[in-house]
Amino acid sequence: MDILKTLDTMNAAFGPSGREEAVAAVIADMAKPYCDEISTDVMGNLICRKKGPGKKIMFAAHMDSIGFMVTHIEKEGFLRVGKIGGIPPVEVIGTPVRFENGLRGVIHCNEMEDEGKVKMEDLYVDIGARDAADAKKHVRPGDMCVYDTRSAMAANRMIIAPYTDNRSGCAVLLMAMEQLKKSVNDLYFVFTTQEEVGLRGAKTAAFGVAPDYGIAVDVTGFDDVPGSRHSCSSSTGKGAAIKVKDSSVICSPAVNKILVELAEKKKIPYQMDVLTAGGTDAGAMHLTMDGVPSSGISIPCKFCHCPQEIVSADDMEACAALCAEFAQYKFE
Ligand SMILES: [Zn+2]
Repeated sequence: MDILKTLDTMNAAFGPSGREEAVAAVIADMAKPYCDEISTDVMGNLICRKKGPGKKIMFAAHMDSIGFMVTHIEKEGFLRVGKIGGIPPVEVIGTPVRFENGLRGVIHCNEMEDEGKVKMEDLYVDIGARDAADAKKHVRPGDMCVYDTRSAMAANRMIIAPYTDNRSGCAVLLMAMEQLKKSVNDLYFVFTTQEEVGLRGAKTAAFGVAPDYGIAVDVTGFDDVPGSRHSCSSSTGKGAAIKVKDSSVICSPAVNKILVELAEKKKIPYQMDVLTAGGTDAGAMHLTMDGVPSSGISIPCKFCHCPQEIVSADDMEACAALCAEFAQYKFE
C-alpha cells in the first residue's frame, strides 16, 4: 500500500464527526477486496467482516475528523465557528479550510493583545464573501468545514499530514486486512463515526457486533519532544504502541499479554502506551454488553489535532503487522 496516497485519498473526502458518509464510501471501496461483507449501521459505522470460525474480534478505527461548525455570519461576511472535537484555537490561525460543497476559506483571529489567549470565539473564517448576504449564498449555520492542508513525506518515513488522527488508523486496518488470507477468527474491521465527540459510533457498533475481544486502532501522544512533561510514554518511530491506559479505558491485561507475546515472537517493534489524557474507541468497546476484554494498538502522533500532524510510516506498518497477528491468534 502507498501509505501517503491512501491518507491523501481519505483526506480528500469530507468526514468530520457526524458527516462521515464521503470518507466511509472511499474506505468501503478500499476494503472491498479484503472482506466478505460490508454493512453500515444507523450511526454510520462502516462494518467490514471477514468471516472465520473462531472468536469474534472487533477492530475499531475511527474515520471521523475534528472540524468546525458555522454558528453565525458577521455583517462583514466572516463566519464564526464552533469546534467539532478538540481544536487548539491558537494552533489553527492562518489554516486553510474546506466545506463539504468545496468552498474554501482561511481561519483568522480578532485583533488580540495576547495571541496565546486565543479562544474559539475569537476565530473567524474568511471565505472571501463581500458581506453577510453574499456569505449566505454559500453557507449557513450548521455547515461544517475541515482543515484543507497538504501532506508530505519528511525524513525517516515520517508523514506530515492533516488528520493522521485517525486516517492513519484507518490505513493500518486496511493494511492488516490486506495481509490476511484465510481467517481463523470472525473478524470485524469497523471504521467508526463520531469518536472525536465522545466515542459515539463505537458504542452502537460494539453493541451490534457483540465481540469477544475489542482492539481500538488510533493515534496516541508522543513523548519525544524537548522539555517533555511525560504525560504519555510513547515515541514516534519506536513501533506499535500497545495501550495500557488512557482516560477512557484501563486495558485488559489478558489481551495485552497476548499482544506483547505476539510482538516479541514475530519481532514486531512495540512499546507500551500510557496516556494520561484522551480517549479511544476501546473506552466504548470494553463497556458494551457485560464487558468486552479490550485494548488498543496505537500510532504515536506528534501535534495531534493541529492542522499538520506527524506519524511514522514504520510505526503504522508495525501496528498493521500486530493487528494481523492478533486477528490470526488461536484463542484457547
Ligand atoms: Zn483519534
